[in-house]
Amino acid sequence: MTSAREEFARQEAELDELYREIILDHYRSPRNQGSLPAPSVRREGLNPLCGDEIQIDLSIQDDVIQDVCFQGRGCSISQSSASMMTEAIKGLSLDKAEALFATFKEMMQGSDQVDPASLGDLEALTGVRKFPVRVKCATLAWHTLDEAIREYLKTRA
Ligand code: ZN
Repeated sequence: MTSAREEFARQEAELDELYREIILDHYRSPRNQGSLPAPSVRREGLNPLCGDEIQIDLSIQDDVIQDVCFQGRGCSISQSSASMMTEAIKGLSLDKAEALFATFKEMMQGSDQVDPASLGDLEALTGVRKFPVRVKCATLAWHTLDEAIREYLKTRA
């Protein structure tokens, strides 16, 4: 897998400098890293293409995400995306978090209908669109979040 790793490192070096700085900042100083003592729901996600792993803990009250933590390992894009996501969704209702996931997904699929400025640091991940295989790295945390919310709603019902 050395060649794939070298290829990924090359791709990361090709990102726009500003984007790369934001991504590396989140990678080196992850926000909301760790686990919650008593999460409402915990979910793990895996991106086999790159070997990225993510665990998301959510604390939910009255359908609002009161707290969120993540831990994992993998490439800088997967881990920084998770860090950015925790910042973006904390305090949001489950509906709003799902809507943000939809917006983010559209943006990563190349939609021009999304105003990237509305996504804060997440905009930095638009640089990854040049490398379609890495989009899965950027969306791993979000798919894991989506599964966590669905699981929460199902078990609660
Ligand atoms: Zn990755």
